[in-house]
Amino acid sequence: MIEARGLTKVYGNKTAVREVSFSIAPGQVTGFLGPNGAGKSTCMRLMVGLDRPSAGTVTVQGQRYADLSAPMAEVGALLDAKGVHPGRSARSHLRALAATHGISDRRVHEVLEQTGLSAVANRRVGGFSLGMGQRLGIASALLGDPRVLILDEPINGLDPDGVLWVRKLLRHLASEGRTVLLSSHLMSEMAQTADHVIVLGRGEVVADAPIQEFISGG
Ligand code: ADP
Ligand code: ADP
Repeated sequence: MIEARGLTKVYGNKTAVREVSFSIAPGQVTGFLGPNGAGKSTCMRLMVGLDRPSAGTVTVQGQRYADLSAPMAEVGALLDAKGVHPGRSARSHLRALAATHGISDRRVHEVLEQTGLSAVANRRVGGFSLGMGQRLGIASALLGDPRVLILDEPINGLDPDGVLWVRKLLRHLASEGRTVLLSSHLMSEMAQTADHVIVLGRGEVVADAPIQEFISGG
């Protein structure tokens, strides 16, 4: 469960997100839909404490991210692909992240399998394609087996097989009762993946409804 109340973020003289409120329920896939600059990433960064709100609150599992006692077990996120050392292998990157958070090597093995990276796990991340990088980002997000997943444009850079794989994965994770939030600027992606859609435009919520309301034409 994710809840935003009057969430506002101002950068300099630019209001990225303005008094946004929403609830994101567990057990389904929710999509943030909107064009570039709509405020999707900003909302997600606020959710995981990468930025602080200028006003309002956003909580995951009833708490601010900074107050979660086991953040990796509560929330996994794919945001900008930063912090991956290009000289490192995918496996050693995941192992280091796991070690920091007291997660077992066995779990590293599992997420490599789950994301289809096992065969390239010992290769340098610097030589990865965009799609492989996305898979590694998703593997990192899954590492803590989190109740809440927040994925910013997860299908970016993936080949058609990868796109189908992400959709299936997100549907599966939601079916296990997790809270799954993805962003996309593509309505078609929402129609394929999301149960519920929150449309953002110029930093405000423009619509918030089940996907059926967007695709039935009524
Ligand atoms: P989206 O993810 O929907 O493309 P963003 O949340 O990235 O939108 O951006 C929303 C608005 O806030 C944009 O106008 C963007 O330029 C601005 N913005 C986002 N992050 C920053 C930042 N760190 N500094 C200044 N402006 C920012
Ligand atoms: P730092 O101390 O430099 O922030 P961390 O390794 O603690 O380094 O985390 C880097 C950033 O990634 C943090 O700002 C944190 O909010 C975010 N982060 C850490 N763990 C997760 C996670 N499981 N899901 C999403 N974001 C996370």
